[in-house]
Amino acid sequence: MTRESISSVHEALIVGGGIGGMAAAIALSERGVKVELIDLDPEWRVYGAGITITGPTLRAYRRLGLLDAIKAQGAITTKTRLFKYDGTHLRDLDEPIIEEGLPATGGIMRPILHRIMQSRVKDLNIPVCLGLTVRAAVNTDDGVDVTFSDGTSGHYDLVIGSDSVFSGMRDLAFPHMAPAEPTGQACWRISIRKPPAMEAGEFYLGHANPCGITPCAPDSVYMWMLTAHEAGTRMDDDRLYSEFKRLLAEFGGNAGWIRDNMTRDDWINYRPLAAVLQPKPWYQGRIVLLGDAVHATTPHLASGAGMAVESGIVLAEELARAESAEAALLAYQERRYPRCKDVIDSSVSLGRLQLAHGDPREHAFILEGALARLNEPF
Ligand SMILES: Cc1cc2nc3c(=O)[nH]c(=O)nc-3n(C[C@H](O)[C@H](O)[C@H](O)COP(=O)(O)OP(=O)(O)OC[C@H]3O[C@@H](n4cnc5c(N)ncnc54)[C@H](O)[C@@H]3O)c2cc1C
Repeated sequence: MTRESISSVHEALIVGGGIGGMAAAIALSERGVKVELIDLDPEWRVYGAGITITGPTLRAYRRLGLLDAIKAQGAITTKTRLFKYDGTHLRDLDEPIIEEGLPATGGIMRPILHRIMQSRVKDLNIPVCLGLTVRAAVNTDDGVDVTFSDGTSGHYDLVIGSDSVFSGMRDLAFPHMAPAEPTGQACWRISIRKPPAMEAGEFYLGHANPCGITPCAPDSVYMWMLTAHEAGTRMDDDRLYSEFKRLLAEFGGNAGWIRDNMTRDDWINYRPLAAVLQPKPWYQGRIVLLGDAVHATTPHLASGAGMAVESGIVLAEELARAESAEAALLAYQERRYPRCKDVIDSSVSLGRLQLAHGDPREHAFILEGALARLNEPF
């Protein structure tokens, strides 16, 4: 597909090569920008969880030309099966197809998704420097002077901070922003082989700790559970295993199967949740933020990665459309702010309701409304 090229930015630095940073790198490079990508992690790894790829997220990946690879290496499903926590089947939710030819929903292992994105970055000949971050970034009349952590320096027309929820770029250049706020919940996750005869995503309801399973490949799934989090909770691998097994004691169906078949070798993770929609402006001069650095959400709508990919695409689209970089950054911010606000507000409200053991009808109302709005074009 031919893309409109970008004329106001020739050289861009992307700080953070995760989901949002790589999406921006691909979208900018496809529009003729000379992109450099740096990441603090010398190995450019990602942890071993699965990730849910909703319809809107698949739509964004299609715009990056990565849908076929995700379909081939992940798992695509057409419905979500709802169960009472004890395994009693309640009903099936058919997931809507939001664009012709697009699968309804799916999942993939994060390392595989990263490999797909990394391979596109490499195909576009984008230089990637690892084990590197930015020590100083100063706006000048025509761009940004950057000093790197290895003492070298560079000058760029645009610097994109996509270094996630604890963003160093945010600390360097955005004094009006604050760290993400803990929501009082944590997410447990396990990556494990697929239970026999499981073909769709599953949700287990009616328990204080909601739980779900997403297929990620023909032979693997990940299961998540949301629990209340007490500040300071720390667990070693043995405790993670025994505590997660204990939390699953009352669950039936495939959640019960996972409890009975999980081993200490399966990847298990406990992550306290935090969220924040950073106040505007999302850019200072020619430094701009995207992804969790500026719109960090909780997993209640499984849409954080989708928002990061969309932001990378929208930034490139607005740079191609506007007459100046300044106008493009404003347009990017105004296009992304309301959509990210909706995702974060709805996700945080769902978490609060769960902690307060709120009315399931209110939960369904918030969830279904937010998902329907997410299906709208971005
Ligand atoms: C428990 C949990 C479950 C989730 N499940 C889902 C889901 O099912 N579906 C979904 O769509 N979203 C989900 N998300 C959200 C999703 O993971 C994030 O929104 C998404 O990864 C954000 O992308 P990002 O590019 O902003 O950050 P990341 O993908 O985290 O990438 C940030 C990159 O920056 C690098 N970096 C960090 N600091 C620096 C620095 N100082 N200098 C240079 N580089 C740096 C890191 O090494 C990393 O490569 C979940 C989140 C959580 C917490």
